[in-house]
Amino acid sequence: MTSATPALSSRLQALQPSAIIQVANAARALKAAGKPVLSLSIGVPGFLPPAHVYEAAHKAVDADSGDYLPGRGSAGLVQAFRASMQARGFDYAEAEVCAQVGGKGALFNLLLALVNPGDEVIIPAPYWASYPEMVKLVGGVPVCPTASVANDYKITPAQLRAAITPATKAILFNNPSNPTGMLYTAAEVAALAAVLAEAPHVWIVADDIYDHLIFGATGERAAHVLDSHPSLRARTVLVQSVSKTYGMPGWRVGMVAAPKPLIDALLALTSQSTTHLPAVPMAAAAAALSGPQDFLAPQLVRLNRQRDETLAALRQMGLTCPMPQGAFYAFPQITSVFGKVTPAGTRLTDDLSFCTALLNEALVAVVPGGAFGDAGAIRISYAGNAAELTEALARLAKFCAALQA
Ligand code: PLP
Repeated sequence: MTSATPALSSRLQALQPSAIIQVANAARALKAAGKPVLSLSIGVPGFLPPAHVYEAAHKAVDADSGDYLPGRGSAGLVQAFRASMQARGFDYAEAEVCAQVGGKGALFNLLLALVNPGDEVIIPAPYWASYPEMVKLVGGVPVCPTASVANDYKITPAQLRAAITPATKAILFNNPSNPTGMLYTAAEVAALAAVLAEAPHVWIVADDIYDHLIFGATGERAAHVLDSHPSLRARTVLVQSVSKTYGMPGWRVGMVAAPKPLIDALLALTSQSTTHLPAVPMAAAAAALSGPQDFLAPQLVRLNRQRDETLAALRQMGLTCPMPQGAFYAFPQITSVFGKVTPAGTRLTDDLSFCTALLNEALVAVVPGGAFGDAGAIRISYAGNAAELTEALARLAKFCAALQA
């Protein structure tokens, strides 16, 4: 008897694996082969959490109970999260919050809890690469109104209104945005919220994981639909994570605040899947959320400086890129170089050929914009080591300058 591998589920056959992780893996492989690759591809904030976070983690190891913990999250984490929401002006009871495996795990489980087969989910494009794939995995249909470069990659209220149908179940709204770094102003968020107020059948999933990372006044947070329209609370879900704000992507702690029935559904779901988050990351995240927040201001100054350097370099190269106002990404248009040829003889026909040639010929990793719904762009994550960023931008400039028509 031969031992052929039996078929996998049809559910996964249409799934696009994360392009971001693919690029990171390709860069890692080149590095392992001894090539001095510089990566501007992965969304890590480029700093580590403050010392008290590690102390809390060590203490949690020492105090291990040997027991399972509450599915909602440890008491300390739930309390710290509720207090952090309170500081933002949002009051959520214990029954209205829960922990999840990162913001990513939260979004996936939320979609499982909200979306029936055939339901439409509005995802403004450019979007975070995982949104449409998650929606499709749960049987939903992504509907992606395109935010134009000319409008700073932000959708208009008219575009949102046109995207809403009777089949719309939810909108995924990320402010500031990965991949564009654009920040909807308070007035712009309020105008979108006003449209959503007229569509009572639509859930609003606010992916707020970058809302501390904006280049405004110290301590300023991104505007929220609940600021102008608190009446939307009964159908708004707030997703948070310690990954970006606290420099803790590897700890995998995300949090959700939402109406109790939805939180109950998430808890029922995780009671049959992941059970709860590991104790040590929860203790670390609780310490991050409840400890001093003054570590962030110098990081924002650093990110602001690296943003300015990145944008100046891109403009020098002649690449169009709206000025990011938050997060740590830039999303330049590269269509102006399509059709050109690299010194090694590669014709750049699209985002993928651009990124592949840039990686192989200039040893710089960036992510093709197609993964984010705009194949005429690339995504640059500029939060990493400052000297490496400068060198990577110099290589990118040299690569672009050497292209032949
Ligand atoms: N949402 C957005 C827009 C993101 O960019 C990311 C990560 O890059 C996530 C959610 C998930 O982050 P995590 O799972 O690390 O909390």
